Amino acid sequence: MFEDIIYPSLKRQEKRFIVTANPEIVMLARENKEYRTIIEKADYIIPDGAGIVVASKILKQPVEERIPGFEIMTEMIGHAEEQGLSCYFLGAHERVVDKFIDRIKTLHPNLLIAGHYHGFFDIADREIVDTIKKAKPDMIFVALGSPRQEQWISTYYHEFDKGFFMGVGGSFDVVAGKVKRAPEAWIKLNLEWLYRLLQQPFRWKRILKVFEFMFRIVIRRY
Ligand code: UDP
Repeated sequence: MFEDIIYPSLKRQEKRFIVTANPEIVMLARENKEYRTIIEKADYIIPDGAGIVVASKILKQPVEERIPGFEIMTEMIGHAEEQGLSCYFLGAHERVVDKFIDRIKTLHPNLLIAGHYHGFFDIADREIVDTIKKAKPDMIFVALGSPRQEQWISTYYHEFDKGFFMGVGGSFDVVAGKVKRAPEAWIKLNLEWLYRLLQQPFRWKRILKVFEFMFRIVIRRY
């Protein structure tokens, strides 16, 4: 996917909007028509979340594997460092994004960082988008959670001449060390959602949506 599709289009400086779809995003799109329209504007919808892979098998339209958004982000940052491409990081709490940037500078000392800004602002705030536009980044990682991150991207995407735009959810929190990713064994057992629930029990309502998603797939009412 990277070598055949994403890197060549980056090289041609084509604009791209990537959505990583998990069951929560699919349910949100099902319930909110406006959000669904936004998701449908994406150039690529990548299956993130074990639930999507299981559902695709049940529906006999199997997707090969899950590609976690977190892994796409880290791969892309590595590529940016190698190729001299610049990245802008938008989102998370101010202290988290500062820590994230410190970590990224340690991990990728040669990365061109076009800038960063925390994620607690009004989507209509023009100052932020104008600053980002001036920085002309090649990649813009937006960590505002769903649906805010996709809403922000779709509102301003058309104003940019180039850029790889991607919503990355809680990925800055993971790199900053605020939230831990599930151990490999849990991921293999398709239990990453349970690990997140144990770490962040306040997310229980969102996990219910994952169950509703699976239930709807099983009874074919989606
Ligand atoms: N966030 C933000 N602005 C907001 C709401 C959330 O920057 O108005 C950040 C939050 O601090 C976290 C990230 O968005 O860093 C994603 O949060 P979550 O774990 O809920 O994301 P998801 O489950 O959608 O990947």
